Amino acid sequence: MTNPTVETDARQREYTTYAPAGETCPACGVPIKNLENCRRGLLARRDSSPIVVYWHTACAPKGAGQ
Ligand SMILES: [Zn+2]
Repeated sequence: MTNPTVETDARQREYTTYAPAGETCPACGVPIKNLENCRRGLLARRDSSPIVVYWHTACAPKGAGQ
């Protein structure tokens, strides 16, 4: 059961945190400011190991922690 699309893995623990410098929100493409609250999560890619990403709290996909 492989899913060819890139999506969040809801099984991973996600939480509100601060993004390290230089992170860009994958939802809106706007860089996340230093010390701005954001949502940390993993994007599962079919061809490699998951990557850690940070969304603005308002941009976090539904089901990502809530
Ligand atoms: Zn955003």
